[in-house]
Amino acid sequence: MNHPSTYQGKRVVVLGLARSGVSVAKLFHKLGANVIVNDQKNREACPEAQELEALGISVLCGGHPSDLVDERTALLVKNPGIPYSASPVQQALRLGVEVATEVEAAYHLSPAPIIGITGSNGKTTTTTLLGALLEAAGKNPIVAGNIGLPLCEAVQGATADNWIVAELSSFQLKGTSRFHPRIALLLNLAETHLDYHGGMEDYVASKAKLFANQSEEDTAVLNWDDGACRQIAAGLKARQLPFSIFERLEEGVFIDPPYERDAGDSAELPERSIVCRLAAEGSGQVVQHTIMPVEELGLRGRHNAANALAAIAAYAAAGAPLEALRAPLSDFRGVEHRLELVTVKDGVTYYNDSKATNPTATAMSVRSLKAPIILIAGGLDRGSDYMELLPVFGALKGLVTLGETSGKLERVARQAGLTKVESVKPEKDAESTLRQAVRQAAALAGEGDIVLLSPACASWDMFASFEQRGSMFKQSAHTL
Ligand code: ADP
Repeated sequence: MNHPSTYQGKRVVVLGLARSGVSVAKLFHKLGANVIVNDQKNREACPEAQELEALGISVLCGGHPSDLVDERTALLVKNPGIPYSASPVQQALRLGVEVATEVEAAYHLSPAPIIGITGSNGKTTTTTLLGALLEAAGKNPIVAGNIGLPLCEAVQGATADNWIVAELSSFQLKGTSRFHPRIALLLNLAETHLDYHGGMEDYVASKAKLFANQSEEDTAVLNWDDGACRQIAAGLKARQLPFSIFERLEEGVFIDPPYERDAGDSAELPERSIVCRLAAEGSGQVVQHTIMPVEELGLRGRHNAANALAAIAAYAAAGAPLEALRAPLSDFRGVEHRLELVTVKDGVTYYNDSKATNPTATAMSVRSLKAPIILIAGGLDRGSDYMELLPVFGALKGLVTLGETSGKLERVARQAGLTKVESVKPEKDAESTLRQAVRQAAALAGEGDIVLLSPACASWDMFASFEQRGSMFKQSAHTL
């Protein structure tokens, strides 16, 4: 899209209220566009409408009017979650009206350089960690995007002295055209959100848009252990700074000695360090820095070690001093609902990993815990067969399933040879069902074991959000 000021006096349709819709509507209104906001929800479910109307912005709730997008419309800014099959989006595409997401508009207005972070898993953890590292180094980060603060709001308060650290989803990236982060991170690519994207190809293409406008002066941070990321790396213009937990790299951030792909994270293995090899400015000669022992990271698990390497690579690319990393890396203990230690009761440790909404995330979490695990899993059925979990289930002590995918997960577990498999009968409400799951898991656990909620599925079949599911789990564990 063009610079947002070029829409002055033009009709701009904002599809979807919510926080990012409100901020983008206000922004285009301020820039003189004729803004019309539309949301499918009924008026009562759109409390934000009043604030916008007070500014003179038209808000249409309760469905999509058929003439919402017409020949006069210059731009449609859609909420990332709204599918491209929605009627106003289809109408816009038919008429040749530009369709963008809020992050694209934000990019054009940002006085600060942007660090864009995407991937199938680990975005929030890496974004939050990178924000903490840059903060400790006095680099004035503003953490924004998918994580909470809309990018449009973040850029309005920013100056050239800030770094915008933006978590970006594939949905947001699909609606970009000139979005150009100075530093771009791709953490990994797993099969997820295929219902929205209609297949892996569109999903990967959306993620790859993060790099599309980068030049030789920019940096691309990529996961060298992930085949799909490597494929994307092959066609990039930006300087590449890869990271790996499995390989020593000539240039990049890695673990030395590297992890072995098929072994667990066993404590008996040799002491490992985080190492960064960077080309020195001027000479271009590669200089090696040892950052710290992996054991000292505040985050647990290999997947989190990978997230830390990615954050370190971006931190280095932002020109922040490597010597200052050790303390903030050991202080950072992670984000709520991500492999979060809840409590220890009768010798059993409870972990809340409610944010694990796909099988890859669950597999990573199970692998990173060392004691015998009773897993609580299940949730919204998006059509996966969960066979990816076969080896993971084989390593469990027990499984308690709930939600729509209960039957599917049970079948995979039995195929894996797991005998302690139980499903939870739905109770009067989601909270009681989850509490029952925790009780059943606790009954299967012995001293020294772990009860882990890591559902491998989204929460919406039973809960309002993964946060609600995680909070209810914590409550149940505390009140057992
Ligand atoms: P996102 O924002 O991409 O959903 P989060 O940082 O919120 O990622 O982590 C979500 C879940 O994904 C965590 O609970 C953990 O189980 C898993 N996870 C985190 N980092 C990784 C990674 N690098 N690779 C695979 N799984 C991961």
